[in-house]
Amino acid sequence: MKASAFSYIRPTTIDDALALLAQYGEQAKVLSGGQSLMPALNLRLSAPEWLVDIGGLSDLRTIAVSRGLLRIGALARHVDVLKSADVAEHAPLLADAMVHVAHPAIRNKGTMGGNLAHADPASEMPACMIALDAVIVVRSRAGERRLQARDFFIGIYETALAAEELLVAVEIPVANQNSVRFFHEYARRNGDYAIVGLAASATLDGGSFADLRLGFFAVGDRPLLATAARHLIGRPVTAAMLAEAQAALEAELDPQEDQQAPVAMRKHLARQLLALCVATLLGRADLEARRSA
Ligand SMILES: Cc1cc2nc3c(=O)[nH]c(=O)nc-3n(C[C@H](O)[C@H](O)[C@H](O)COP(=O)(O)OP(=O)(O)OC[C@H]3O[C@@H](n4cnc5c(N)ncnc54)[C@H](O)[C@@H]3O)c2cc1C
Repeated sequence: MKASAFSYIRPTTIDDALALLAQYGEQAKVLSGGQSLMPALNLRLSAPEWLVDIGGLSDLRTIAVSRGLLRIGALARHVDVLKSADVAEHAPLLADAMVHVAHPAIRNKGTMGGNLAHADPASEMPACMIALDAVIVVRSRAGERRLQARDFFIGIYETALAAEELLVAVEIPVANQNSVRFFHEYARRNGDYAIVGLAASATLDGGSFADLRLGFFAVGDRPLLATAARHLIGRPVTAAMLAEAQAALEAELDPQEDQQAPVAMRKHLARQLLALCVATLLGRADLEARRSA
C-alpha cells in the first residue's frame, strides 16, 4: 500500500513550525525521523493532509547539561544519545537501554522526540523517562508546558500532547554518586520490541534503597511507574519483602495478550525482572532465588 496524498512542508524555524501546527491542527502530523510515521502512512493507519517536517530545526538536536539537568533536544537521534558523553556520565540508563531500541539503521534516523511522542507501550525510552523522573517539554504558540513523564503517557500511542504542540526536549535530573541503575528486557530477538522490560533507577543508602523508581514497559497500555517499589525502600530487603513487592507488582500490571506472549507469561516475567533488578542493584545473590518463586 502507499500513503494517501498529503502536502509536505519543511519549516526553518521553531516559530514557523508552531505557526503551521496552530494553523492545521489535527490535519497535520509532525515528521521527525519517520521511522514510525512513514510505515503508519504507508499502511494508511494515519492519513494527515499536511506533513510538517521538523528535520531542519537544528536547535532541537542539542544534548547539554546545565544546572543539574541533562537536556536532550527532540531531534537528537537515537545514535546521538548512544554516543553522547553527557548521557554516559549523567544518565547512563539511557545508553544501556538505547542499544535495545531497534537496529543501527533505525537508530541513525529515529529521534528522542519522535520516540516519546509515538508512545509505544513496549518502547524502552518512555519507561526510562519515568524511572529517571524526567520532565517532557512541549511548546505551542501559546507557550511552553512542562509535564512529568509519568503524566505524559496516557494510553497506547497516546500522550498528553495537543495537536498544535511540539515536543521540544526532555530534561533529566543528573545522576548523583549514590545513583545506580538497572535495565533488562526480554525480547525474542535482538532489536525486537520487548515482551516485558524494566528500566530502574535507585539511590542507595548503605545496603538499602533510599529511593527506587521502577519503570516497567510492555505490561499495559503505557509505561508503568510501579508503586510496588515502596515495599523495598528504607530498610534492608528480605526475601519476604521482595515477595510482597512481587505480589503488589502483579496487582498493578495490566498486560495485553498478543502474538508475542500471553498475559500470564508477561506477569511472570515482570516478577522475575523485579527480583533480578533488586538482587543486582543491592549485590544480593540470595534474593535471586525469588526469580523462580
Ligand atoms: C523495524 C523497527 C523496529 C523498531 N524497534 C523499536 C524498539 O525496539 N524500541 C523502540 O522504542 N522503538 C522502535 N522502533 C521505533 C523507532 O525507535 C522510531 O524511531 C521512533 O519510535 C519514532 O521516532 P521518529 O523520530 O522516527 O518519529 P516519527 O516516525 O517521525 O514520528 C513518530 C510519531 O511522533 C510524532 N512526532 C515526531 N516528532 C514529534 C515532536 N517533536 N513533537 C510532536 N510529535 C512528534 C509524529 O507525528 C508521529 O506521530 C522501531 C522502528 C522500526 C521501523
